[in-house]
Amino acid sequence: MADAKLIDGKAFAGGLRQRVGAGVADLIAKGGPKPGLATVLVGADPASQVYVRSKGKLAVELGMASFDHQLPENTTEAELLAVVAQLNADPTVNGILVQLPLPRHIDTAKVLIAIDPAKDVDGFHPVNVGRLGSIAPGAPLDFPVPCTPLGVSMLLQDALGSLSGLNAVIVGRSNLVGRPVAQLLLRADCTVTITHSRTRDLPAVCRQADILVVAIGKTEFVKGGWIKPGAAVVDVGINRIPTPEGKSRLVGDVAFAEAQKVAGYVTPVPGGVGPMTVACLMYNTLQATRRVAGLPFVA
Ligand code: NDP
Repeated sequence: MADAKLIDGKAFAGGLRQRVGAGVADLIAKGGPKPGLATVLVGADPASQVYVRSKGKLAVELGMASFDHQLPENTTEAELLAVVAQLNADPTVNGILVQLPLPRHIDTAKVLIAIDPAKDVDGFHPVNVGRLGSIAPGAPLDFPVPCTPLGVSMLLQDALGSLSGLNAVIVGRSNLVGRPVAQLLLRADCTVTITHSRTRDLPAVCRQADILVVAIGKTEFVKGGWIKPGAAVVDVGINRIPTPEGKSRLVGDVAFAEAQKVAGYVTPVPGGVGPMTVACLMYNTLQATRRVAGLPFVA
């Protein structure tokens, strides 16, 4: 059997970013508002600082306004809620992203629920979680949807076309990835199975999958023998492992070299799902701005 086709998330994300940039220019040219993305970071975690900076930088590159709020580690919950309230009220802000994880003394659920659902570009507000959970098959995604799952579904639809009737197995049931991926694939008429750490005979369940999405955070956990020949495998996992040279490199949750020999399609790590997350954040910010301007949803 020929090696699996690579699903090139980096290239697809590049195209999506370009389409978002063009959408921003078009909106402004027609007299619409300039999309604005506000990022809020509490504390000085270096990885989070890099993420937040890159999101703000990309927003500006795509013609949006970026508002960075860097708050000290000892910011109180009340202070953070006040910042969120101020961003909710600010008409120049269309998207609010509170970088997670928050320091332990802050109740994350309380903060996420305080964000205006219309500006919740991460898609974590219970109102948006509920909308996704109750969406009708094929109905438009005209509300914010979590970025990584949205990226997964876009890559699958681009690679396979119609997903209707396919067996999709999701490994991992987190609110961040596994569950919203399952909802999106159900909307696309897949037959969906969600698996987790208590699933019995996981390899056998995975072997039923035409689409296998893995999001568990365990280095090369899913082996080639778990994959149905010809299946589309999407590896969401990001694991950093040491190299013999004393450096580190990123690997996924799927044994990539083994998967390549069995699957029909496979995403690499890095360069698969990863680049889609931030591109989808920009997509969500543009869509949120279009909704405020009363413009129709464009896929
Ligand atoms: P969580 O830790 O929140 O969830 C992990 C899930 O995997 C849980 O549902 C857990 O099951 C399940 N799991 C753990 N061990 C096993 C096992 N042995 N067999 C079956 N299921 C198992 O992780 P996230 O969903 O937040 O992230 C998953 C991965 O995706 C991570 O590597 C993360 O870094 C990556 N990620 C990548 C992103 C990107 O942009 N590409 C964005 C977000 C995450 P149970 O519920 O039973 O405990």
